Amino acid sequence: MKICVLPGDGIGPEITEQALRVLEALRSDGLDFTAETALIGGCAVDATGTPYPEVTSTLAREADAILLGAVGGPQWDNLPREQRPERGLLAIRKELNLFANLRPAILYPELANASTLKPEIVAGLDILIVRELTGDIYFGQPRGIREEGGERVGFNTMVYSESEIRRIGKVAFEAARKRGKKLCSVDKMNVLESTQLWRDVMIELSADYPDVELSHMLVDNAAMQLVRAPKQFDVMVTGNMFGDILSDEASMLTGSIGMLPSASLDANNKGLYEPSHGSAPDIAGKGVANPLATILSAAMMLRYTFNQEGFAARIENAVKKVLAAGYRTGDIYEPGTRRVGTKEMGDAVIAAL
Ligand code: NAD
Repeated sequence: MKICVLPGDGIGPEITEQALRVLEALRSDGLDFTAETALIGGCAVDATGTPYPEVTSTLAREADAILLGAVGGPQWDNLPREQRPERGLLAIRKELNLFANLRPAILYPELANASTLKPEIVAGLDILIVRELTGDIYFGQPRGIREEGGERVGFNTMVYSESEIRRIGKVAFEAARKRGKKLCSVDKMNVLESTQLWRDVMIELSADYPDVELSHMLVDNAAMQLVRAPKQFDVMVTGNMFGDILSDEASMLTGSIGMLPSASLDANNKGLYEPSHGSAPDIAGKGVANPLATILSAAMMLRYTFNQEGFAARIENAVKKVLAAGYRTGDIYEPGTRRVGTKEMGDAVIAAL
C-alpha cells in the first residue's frame, strides 16, 4: 500500500501528522504501508513557483492513494489564477481523473448540540453526498473576463457530457444500493439545459437499479430541504458546482466541518482522501485544529482503496469512543467536555484504538 501524503497549507501539516500517527499505530497489528510526502498548494508555489510541481504529480500518479491536508491562505490570494493554491487541487483531481467525490455527513449523538439546527431535526443524520468533480462550470471552456461594449464581462461555461453524467450516476446508484437505497438527484433543469440532460441520463440509468428509489430535486429546493428536514435524504448526487455548495451546507448540519472526511475516487478506486474543510489560516500553527476529519479520511482510504474494512471500522470506532469520553477540540467544545488540542486528540484516538 503506497500512500502519497500532501500536507499542504495552513492547518494541513498539523492534521495530516495526526492521521499518519493513527495509521502508524496500526502497523503493529499488520497494517503495511509506505508513505511519502510532497508539496502542494501555496507551500509548493513558494518553493517551486507552481501549486502542483512535477515531482508531486509523479509521486501522486505512482501511489495507490493520496492523503491530503488542505491548501490555500490569504498570502496567495492575489497571485495570478494559475498559481493559486486551489489550482493544485483542481490539477491533481483532473490529472488522476478523480471524478467522484464522496462526502458523508454523519451526526454523532454526542455532538447533536454542536449543530445550529434543533437536535430533533439532525439527531441520527446520515447522508452521503456524491458530487461530480472533474466537469461542469469549474472546467468548462470558454471562460474568462473580456472587454465588451466598454466594460468587463466575466463568463464561464456549464457543460456535461452524457458519459460524464453516467459514470457519476453509477457511483451514486451503487453507493445508494449499499445504504438506504434512496437516491436524490439534484439539478436545475427548469433553467439549465446541461442539467436537463443530467436528469434525463439519471432516469435512463435508474432502469439498471430497480432496487434504488430515484427522486429529483431542484438545487434551490435541495438547499432549503437540507436545513428544513435533512433526514429525508440518504444519498444525493449532483454536479460539481451544486455539490460544492450543498456538501458544505450538509457538513454544517453536523455542527463541525472539522469532523467530516471525504474521498475522491477514479474508476479503479484509486483515491484522494482529505477533510472537507479548508486550511483554516485563522487557527494554523496554534495546535488547536480538529484532526478528526483527516483521521476519518484515512479510515475511508483504508475502506475504499485498500479494502481494509476491519482497520477502517477500528479507526471510526476509536473516534466514536473518544467523543463519547468527552474529548473535544475548540470547534466542537461545549462546557462540561474536555478541551484538547490537535495532538492530544490524536493521542486519544490512538489510545482508543
Ligand atoms: P476553512 O474550512 O479553512 O475554515 C472555515 C472555518 O472553519 C474557520 O473558522 C476555521 O478555523 C474552521 N475550521 C476549518 N477546519 C477546522 C478544523 N479542522 N478544526 C477546527 N476548526 C476548523 O474555510 P475558509 O476559511 O473559507 O478557507 C480558508 C482557506 O482554505 C482558503 O484559502 C480557501 O481557499 C482554502 N480552502 C481549501 C480547501 C481544500 O484544501 N480542500 C477547501 C476549502 C477552502
